[in-house]
Amino acid sequence: MLVLKFGGTSVANAQAILQIAAVLKEKAYPQNMVVVVSAMSGVTDMLVSCYQKAVQHDASYHEVIQQLETKHMEAIEQLIPHSYQIDIKGKVKLLLRELEDICQGVFLLDELSDGIKARIMSYGELLSSSVVSVAFKHQDLPNTLIDSRDYIVTDNNYLNAKVDQKKTFALIKERMADAALTIAPGFISRTETGKTSVLGRGGSDYTASIYAAALNAERLEIWSDVDGMYTADPRKVKAARSIKELSYKEAMELAYFGAKVLYPPTIAPLVAAQIPLMLKNTFNPSHKGTLITASPAAGQNSIKGVSCIDNIALITLSGSGMVGVPGIAMRMFKAVATQNINIYFITQSSSEQSITIAMADQEGQLALQALTKEFAQDIEIYDVDPVNLEPHMSIVAIVGNGMIQQPGIAGTMFSILGSHSINIRAIAQGATERNISIVVRGDDAVKAVNLLHDSFFLAKSEKQAEAMA
Ligand code: ADP
Ligand code: ASP
Ligand code: MG
Repeated sequence: MLVLKFGGTSVANAQAILQIAAVLKEKAYPQNMVVVVSAMSGVTDMLVSCYQKAVQHDASYHEVIQQLETKHMEAIEQLIPHSYQIDIKGKVKLLLRELEDICQGVFLLDELSDGIKARIMSYGELLSSSVVSVAFKHQDLPNTLIDSRDYIVTDNNYLNAKVDQKKTFALIKERMADAALTIAPGFISRTETGKTSVLGRGGSDYTASIYAAALNAERLEIWSDVDGMYTADPRKVKAARSIKELSYKEAMELAYFGAKVLYPPTIAPLVAAQIPLMLKNTFNPSHKGTLITASPAAGQNSIKGVSCIDNIALITLSGSGMVGVPGIAMRMFKAVATQNINIYFITQSSSEQSITIAMADQEGQLALQALTKEFAQDIEIYDVDPVNLEPHMSIVAIVGNGMIQQPGIAGTMFSILGSHSINIRAIAQGATERNISIVVRGDDAVKAVNLLHDSFFLAKSEKQAEAMA
């Protein structure tokens, strides 16, 4: 059993879908395969714009739905013989009519809950999986289309839903027919009470890993538009190159710190069953890509990659009254957690006079208000300084297992950035020593990533560098 996931660019148009069919045929089909697909590229963003427009009483969401129709119909016309188009065209029209009705409800009522947002966003994967399934039938790839909402059960956190693995695994094992080829929409799931939820932006990777773990697949392959996980974001660093092998932990840290090619929660379900993960390029299938396992072959470089998260806000709590007082950190985290804010990074100065946390820019104001309220009395008696918010920052992280044995990496990192006048606002080292992360101004981030990448990866000869990667 193999599970394969194809992302938005891999189903972006008829040509890309034919390319997937070619990849599947190479896999000595028939063997048991589950193929998970994302929405066609750009579609989830279009759906988000539909509900945003509708709730603002802007009727131009109709035009967006029209564009969605054109996009899917064009693919159908190019992929499916004319005389077979009627059913799938009818299905696409039906799905879009449902979408239109929901958007109209939002438009009329001016009300938009997370549950409705999830429902609206689910149409991207419902549409793409329907088109892909029929297209494959006409490519000699008979298949069974399923709805992932019948298998993947989550909590009520509609937009970033947490999977109930026990129930989900049981349903997948019990219900999933033993078809040679199953097509499943990624991203979408349902709550206990049967409402549509989604697994977070980029969540189709996670859908695929849930299927892989439940079915104890031989391997999970995630197919995208790059040759695997790179030493840095290829959009920011021209010299970035594909990494041959990574451990689960390294891949998870690179993903968590911004390597978009892999959605961070994807790794966890694979670890228990030791299912290897391959990252491959749909448009360059002969490239080996990146292999992610528990114990990768040892490379020569202790650092595997440089990642970056942009649009970060830093919040610092400081004050002489914080020294030696127990419970301050707990109050700080509780106040932020109550607002459902995700913290990327925590650092405390050794004198205990300040604690700095990092979160998404858009949550900065909310965190500032929550902390100012929580510490109002302490601020009034000057034990704690007014809470400080610094928006528009970036976190840059270097990641690699071997850093544990190698002293001086942090020093090299600071001196390179210092000699180029890049100010480091905060530093944290993961307890595992697998990662060192720093915070710099957003405007400095691309330069910082390039400087670190050049110094850790390009200093060696090309040949050595290839072996390391
Ligand atoms: P998909 O739609 O297939 O899920 P994504 O857009 O989510 O694809 O992820 C692939 C993109 O991730 C690449 O096109 C690349 O620009 C970006 N990316 C960012 N960091 C990295 C990295 N370290 N390695 C590879 N790709 C990266
Ligand atoms: N279509 C969803 C998104 O754009 C899920 C995914 O592509 O993984 O976020
Ligand atoms: Mg993705």
